[in-house]
Amino acid sequence: MRKRRAATDVLLVKQHLSDLGLPTIKAECEQAARECASANVDHLGFLLRLCERELADRGRRATERRIKAARFPQVKSLDDFDFTAQPSLNRPLILELARCEYLGRRESVILVGNPGTGKTHVASGLGLCACQRGKKVRFFRVTELLTQLLEAREDRALGRLRAQLGRLELLILDEFGYVPASQVGAELLFDVISTAYERTSVVLTTNLPFERWTEVLGNERLVAATLDRLTHHCHLLEATGESYRLKEARRRQSGQRRNRGEEGGGEVPNHRA
Ligand code: ADP
Ligand code: MG
Repeated sequence: MRKRRAATDVLLVKQHLSDLGLPTIKAECEQAARECASANVDHLGFLLRLCERELADRGRRATERRIKAARFPQVKSLDDFDFTAQPSLNRPLILELARCEYLGRRESVILVGNPGTGKTHVASGLGLCACQRGKKVRFFRVTELLTQLLEAREDRALGRLRAQLGRLELLILDEFGYVPASQVGAELLFDVISTAYERTSVVLTTNLPFERWTEVLGNERLVAATLDRLTHHCHLLEATGESYRLKEARRRQSGQRRNRGEEGGGEVPNHRA
């Protein structure tokens, strides 16, 4: 009789926990009850343990949602970034930025460097840190944002898109400079950057030094106004080293050559043979 009531209680408890939206407690309450009983943990200790697990899981799920909403092309972490391969990048500054305090001060970051020097990786890594700290982040390739802005303008939905951008705490603009913008595109882009000014942090990556930004925005007045906003409270990171992709490809090639040499009895490979 008692056993039957206990079984009904478990079912009822689980139903209530579902209704209350506490999935982790629901999944773990029976196991935790057994563990706490055998370890002589009292009722409050049991409840505390379950609350902590629910909160930890809730935090993890929220971070996952924020990462998904940020639409990173690939989820890249700063932990996987090899700073020794790109010594020109200011490592202490990047690690400082990883703490996300610049977001509270609405400061921006500009990453300048040649293709393959890890700009997108670092920008995504900073975005990931921000997601982990509960910030709203959105990653755009500049061409993608331009397309969205121009389409929204056609559909008279520009206000909605601007409002969405306005709710962000970090806006990542990747690959500024690969494609020149049309005049309307350049003005829309300037509008996004000037609206973000002192409200939303921007992380921008570019292969173009500032003096060549007219190639993208078309005229000097717009470049001056854009740079004025972007660089007012800004951290500049420059990667002057060589492309990581190229270096990796070269390393792979020489590894393959070495392997071929080993297959041939460990001798120095003879390419003419
Ligand atoms: P960029 O945006 O400057 O063109 P990416 O960030 O796209 O360069 O880097 C190209 C590839 O090389 C990516 O897969 C990136 O993860 C990797 N990569 C670049 N630099 C490093 C590095 N220092 N450590 C680890 N991976 C790197
Ligand atoms: Mg890139």
